[in-house]
Amino acid sequence: MARYVFITGGVVSSLGKGLASAALGALLQARGFSVRLRKLDPYLNVDPGTMSPFEHGEVFVTDDGAETDLDLGHYERFTGVSARKTDSVSSGRIYSTVLEKERRGDYLGKTIQVIPHVTNEIKEFLSIGADEVDFMLCEIGGTVGDIEGLPFFEAIRQFTHERPRGECILMHLTLLPYLAASGELKTKPTQHSVKELQSIGLAPDVLVCRSEHPIPEKEREKIALFCNVRKEAVIAAYDLKTIYEAPLAYHREGLDQAVLDAFQISPAPRPNLARWIDVMDRLDNAEGQVRVAIVGKYTQLEDAYKSIAEALTHGGMANRVRVKAEWIDAETFEREDPAPWLEGFHAILVPGGFGERGTEGKIRAAEFARTRQIPYLGICLGMQMAVIEAARNLAQLPDAGSEEFDLEAGGKRFTPVVYHLKEWVQGNHKVERKASDDKGGTMRLGAYSAHLVEGSLVARVYGTTVIEERHRHRYEVDIKYRKMLEAAGLRFSGMSPDGRLPEIVEWADHPWFIGVQFHPELKSKPFAPHPLFADFIRAAVEVSRLV
Ligand code: GLN
Repeated sequence: MARYVFITGGVVSSLGKGLASAALGALLQARGFSVRLRKLDPYLNVDPGTMSPFEHGEVFVTDDGAETDLDLGHYERFTGVSARKTDSVSSGRIYSTVLEKERRGDYLGKTIQVIPHVTNEIKEFLSIGADEVDFMLCEIGGTVGDIEGLPFFEAIRQFTHERPRGECILMHLTLLPYLAASGELKTKPTQHSVKELQSIGLAPDVLVCRSEHPIPEKEREKIALFCNVRKEAVIAAYDLKTIYEAPLAYHREGLDQAVLDAFQISPAPRPNLARWIDVMDRLDNAEGQVRVAIVGKYTQLEDAYKSIAEALTHGGMANRVRVKAEWIDAETFEREDPAPWLEGFHAILVPGGFGERGTEGKIRAAEFARTRQIPYLGICLGMQMAVIEAARNLAQLPDAGSEEFDLEAGGKRFTPVVYHLKEWVQGNHKVERKASDDKGGTMRLGAYSAHLVEGSLVARVYGTTVIEERHRHRYEVDIKYRKMLEAAGLRFSGMSPDGRLPEIVEWADHPWFIGVQFHPELKSKPFAPHPLFADFIRAAVEVSRLV
C-alpha cells in the first residue's frame, strides 16, 4: 500500500505547489521509490476542458483522454510517469458523481450530505491505484481556508485517521513575506495558515516556506516552535532561475530527507541525482541561442501554452542551445505584412487553438515559413492552417477553409478542406459524435497511434514508423483533398492506422516544415526531449548558422 503525502498551500495562491509536488516526486524517484502524483481541484467545473486558456492556462491531456489541470504536465515532466484520468479530480466531478448516484437510487433513500457522501467519494478517488506505487502525492488546489476546499481537507483528515499511523503526512506550502522597512521576514501569516489547518484537524509534518530572502536560523526555530513542526522539516523555497532547478534546490534544502524522516524511513536510500545534474548542466552551459516565433492566439498568458514553452526548452537542451521563444499575436498578420515581424527568427511555431480569430494570420505565418524556407512546426490548428495555406496557394483551392469557421463569410463559399469529424476508430471500437453534443469531453482526446511513411522527414525524426501521440481536437484534414495537395508537394507522411485521418503533413522540398494533428509537446521531458522538438530546434540552429 502506498504512503500518502498530501500537499496543501496557505497564505496566498501561486506559491508553486505543483512544482514542489513534482520536484518531491522526482526526488523520491531518485531515491529508488515509485511515485504517482494526483491533483484535487476545488472548483466546480467538472474538468478544465471547457475553461478558457486565458483564465486557467493550458489544458493538459493524458494518454487515456482526460482533460486536466496543467499541474499534471509538471508532474509528468518531472517524473516521466504518465498521468491517468484518475489522477485529476475537481469538486465539480465529485459532486456530479454523487448526484448521478443519488438519481440512480444508489444511496437507498438516504439524505445526501457533504459528510459522508461527498467525503467518501473523495476518499475513494484517493485510494485508486494505491497498491501500485510506494508513494502517492496528492496536491490540493487553492488555499487553506477557501470554502470550496473544505470537503477535500475533511476527506484528507478522515483518510489519514482511518489508515495505519505514519502512512500519511501533510506538506504545507506558505509564504514568508519580507518587510523591507524593518528588514525582516515575517512568520505570522505562516503561523495563521497552520492554525487554519489545525482548526480542521490537520497538522503539517513538513512546512515549505517560499521566501525571497535567506531564512535565518532564528526564524526557522520560531516557525518550528509555533507551527509544531520539527526544525529540519522547515524547508526554504527560494526563487529559482528555472523550474528544472527545483529537484536539486529542494534536495539541498532537505525536502526529501524531511519527508522520509516524517515517514520514519531509516536509513533513507541514497539519492541518485545524475538525471537532474545533467538537466542543469545542459541549461547552464548552453552555447548560443535560437529565436523561435510562436504565432498564436492566447499570447497574453504564458501558461496558455505551458507545455509548448517547456518542450521548446527541452529541444534546446537536446542541442545544448538556449531557445528564446517570442510570442506574436496571430491577428497582427491580418493587418500587417508578416515579413518585418518574422524575419530574424530561426524557426516559426503555430500552436493549437480554437475558433476563427487569428486564423488568417496563422495561414500567413505558414506561407511565410514555406516560401522563406524557415523551419515550421504546426501543431493541431497550426497543422490545419498550413494545409489550408497549401490548398489555397498551391493546390488550386483558393476558397479552402475549415468547418470550424464561418464557411459563408463575406458572401463567399469556402471549401471545407478541414471538416468536423463525427466518427472515428479508437482501438477496435467506433466513436460517434453529433454537432449538438456537449462541449465537455467530446473531442478526439488522448493517445492514438499513427503510421509514418518510410523515408519521410518525420520517420527520420522519430526513428520509427509507428508512433503514439496525444490528441485534442474536433476537426480534421479531409483526406478527399490528399491527391490535390500531394500533387502540390505537401506529403501526407503520417496517417491513422486505418488510413483515414491525416496525422502529419510535410513539405517535400522544404528543409523542415511539419504539421501534426496531435500535441507532441505534452510528452516532452527535460531528460527526454521530444524528437520533434529536438529536431525542430536542430533545424533552427542550422538556420542561425547561415545568417
Ligand atoms: N480547433 C481545432 C480543432 O478542434 C484545433 C484544436 C487544437 O489546436 N487543439 O480541430
